[in-house]
Amino acid sequence: MGKGDGEMQAARRAMVQEIADEVRATRKHLGKDALDPRVMAAMGKVARHAFVPQVNWSNAYENRPQPIGHGQTISQPYMVAVMSDLAAVAPADRVLEIGTGCGYQSAVLAELAARVFTIEVVPELANQAAERLRGLGYDNIDVRIGDGALGWPEHAPFDAIVVTAAAWHRVPPALIEQLAPGGRLVVPVDRSKAAARYPFTAQRQDLLLVSKDARGKVSERSVLPVAFVPLVEGGTG
Ligand code: SAH
Repeated sequence: MGKGDGEMQAARRAMVQEIADEVRATRKHLGKDALDPRVMAAMGKVARHAFVPQVNWSNAYENRPQPIGHGQTISQPYMVAVMSDLAAVAPADRVLEIGTGCGYQSAVLAELAARVFTIEVVPELANQAAERLRGLGYDNIDVRIGDGALGWPEHAPFDAIVVTAAAWHRVPPALIEQLAPGGRLVVPVDRSKAAARYPFTAQRQDLLLVSKDARGKVSERSVLPVAFVPLVEGGTG
């Protein structure tokens, strides 16, 4: 263990504590006091600092989103934990993530699932994330460049789908289609009026948990108000 690893570990432990505190503070939304211990263990394990530029290592474990370049952000640790918890990922599950970004949420999901498929629309981010994840030893993550709103039909169905950018008014139909019976889809949906979409839509996004039962019947629950960057849809067509 090199010098600095101990510091990073301590910072990570403090981050996990902050997540636990924020979960308790938002228990009314979440409907529980604590997240799945497997999710909290994954948050305590993944080296978040490896996903941000080295100049930002000293604050990599703060419980807030941070800029990572290309106008994009690394999600807030609390939000990564909550979404992973809502996705209720079991060890044998196959998970689809939309919006790889730096790959942090992909890594957390990879700690919980058998295999993670993740799609990023910005090629540079996808390539960097794939290289970073390989370097960190994650061999159960497939990164693809493309429009995640279309899903990844070749690998469907998925036991869980996590979307880390806000869809416009409705859940992309391809994602509901590619959800396995019994599956969970976690997705922020922007319900603001068109004219109000830019620049400040943060307060109008709802984090939805969409569930498909064993017979294929779909239901949804709005969990929490959230703030994500927009999901780019139809940009490649
Ligand atoms: N999962 C990341 C958060 C990424 S922010 C984390 O763990 O921190 C959201 C990402 O979604 C951005 O990188 C953005 O480029 C990407 N994105 C936006 N629209 C997309 C689309 N249609 N398909 C795939 N990725 C998309």
